[in-house]
Parts: sequence; structure tokens; C-alpha cells
Amino acid sequence: MTVLTDLDRRHVASTVQRALTGDRPAEDDRFRATQDDTEARFVREMAAEAAAHLEGKPADRILAWAAAVVPRFVITSSFGADSAVLLHLVAETTPEVPVLFLDTGFHFDETLLFRRDLARQLGLSVLDLRPDLSVEQQDERYGSELHRRDPDVCCQLRKTVPLRRALQSFDGWATGVRRVQTPERAATPVVEARQHDGRWLVKVAPLATWTDADVSAYLDRHALPRHPLVAQGYPSIGCAPCTARVGDGGDARAGRWSDFDGKTECGIHLADDDEVVRTSTTPG
Ligand code: SF4
Repeated sequence: MTVLTDLDRRHVASTVQRALTGDRPAEDDRFRATQDDTEARFVREMAAEAAAHLEGKPADRILAWAAAVVPRFVITSSFGADSAVLLHLVAETTPEVPVLFLDTGFHFDETLLFRRDLARQLGLSVLDLRPDLSVEQQDERYGSELHRRDPDVCCQLRKTVPLRRALQSFDGWATGVRRVQTPERAATPVVEARQHDGRWLVKVAPLATWTDADVSAYLDRHALPRHPLVAQGYPSIGCAPCTARVGDGGDARAGRWSDFDGKTECGIHLADDDEVVRTSTTPG
């Protein structure tokens, strides 16, 4: 099913046409040869143009645009509280696009069951990304409960590195990040260029402008399942050791890394430069 408008199609056609002119590599290689300055500039300019073109547009159109323009496109999902929205949009709009799931080894059992059942229900192809080290191997090398002592390093080992390695095989990806979730996400563009390991990729946030009410309405309208822990007081769900219940009316992400001042992100949504300067503040 395509939801692209004529205007979107013209934008896709002109983008691809631009990629095929000049000294740029042909066809899909236009994204892969990003070490070249011309190529890097092309991806950045294309993302900036797309961000302006697609701002405020429906999420399914943003997804369809990305799947049409980005040769090797993928979705990342935490199978968390709101994840059914983006995954349902993918199933309806771009079902051929694979989904990546970071299997950190620290997920709630409920998350792993939700991942299995929702993928089946929506007919999605989900690839599990695992860290180099098992939890036991990490304990041996770094000491037990690294997440209590240095969650930034733990997140880097179990989330950031596996995702960045996987993204070496793709030209762009979409996430369910929304502007209202945290101050750090407030300026999230619907499309941007991100540099990873020397290559420029296209990062897409189809739900960037969605409010919590938009999410609830979509879940209700399509009778989609909520993550089972939402009903138990977890409005945002990540790894079990770093996710706490939130009281009624509390900030949705207040239960994430709640023992650490200043840590609000695992790092996968930060640019390369941000990641290296980020440090945790140990409680007490
Ligand atoms: S969220 Fe916690 S357990 Fe999961 S990778 Fe990060 S620090 Fe480790």
C-alpha cells in the first residue's frame, strides 16, 4: 500500500534524479560511498530538504517517503510502551522493511513475550541484535551489576555498539522518538542526517510531532495491544534493572535510570560526538 501523494512522488523522483547526476555513484551506491565529500553533502542536503518537506505530514507518508528514497532502510524498536504504533504503521505502509530489536539480555520477560506476539500479529520481520558479551561474560570482565555502577558503559556495550554495527549494513533507519518525551528530544527533526562510523545515514522520526494523546488514540483506533507492564505502572519500559514504576501523573520517563542524575538516554539516539562526552552521575 502506498500513501505517497503526487507531491511526495515528485520529491522522491527529484531526490533520486539528483543522486544520479554529477559525479555521484549510481543508484543505491549513492548512500554507501559516503566517505566521499560530495556524497556526504548530498545525504545531508537531501535530509534537510526532506525535513522541511515532511514536517507536519502524516507518519505513514513519512515512512513511505523514507522507504522509497533510502535504499537499505530499517526500523528500530524497543517493543516498549508505545512501540505498537510505529510497528503497526510499518506493517500497514512498508511491511517489507525489517525491524531491529536490541536484545540486551536485561529485558523484562514481558517485553520478550510482547516482542514475539506483536511481531507475529503484525507479520513483521524482526532481527534481534545481541551484544558481543553475554550478561555472564560482562559480569566477569566488568564486575557484576555494571548498570548500577556505570550505566553509560553498560548501555554502550549492550545497545549502542550493537546498533551502530548493524547500521553499517543500512543507509537509514526510523525510530519511534517523539518530541514531547524528553527535553533532549524536543527538537527532533522528522528527517535528519546522522554520521556513524564515517558514513552519513538518514534518520527518520515519523512520530516526532505526536503527543501522548495521539498515541493513545491510535492504539485505541486500531485495537493494538499495550505493553503489559503499562497497566502495572510502567509508562516507559527499557531494561528491567533500569526501569522503575512511576506514580500516577508522574513524568513518563521518570522511571528510567531513576537512580542516576542526568541520565535520560541510553545513547542510541545521540550523535557520535554527544556519546563520548556523556557520563553518568553515580547516586550518593
Ligand atoms: S538500560 Fe541498564 S541494563 Fe540496559 S543496557 Fe543500559 S545500563 Fe545496561
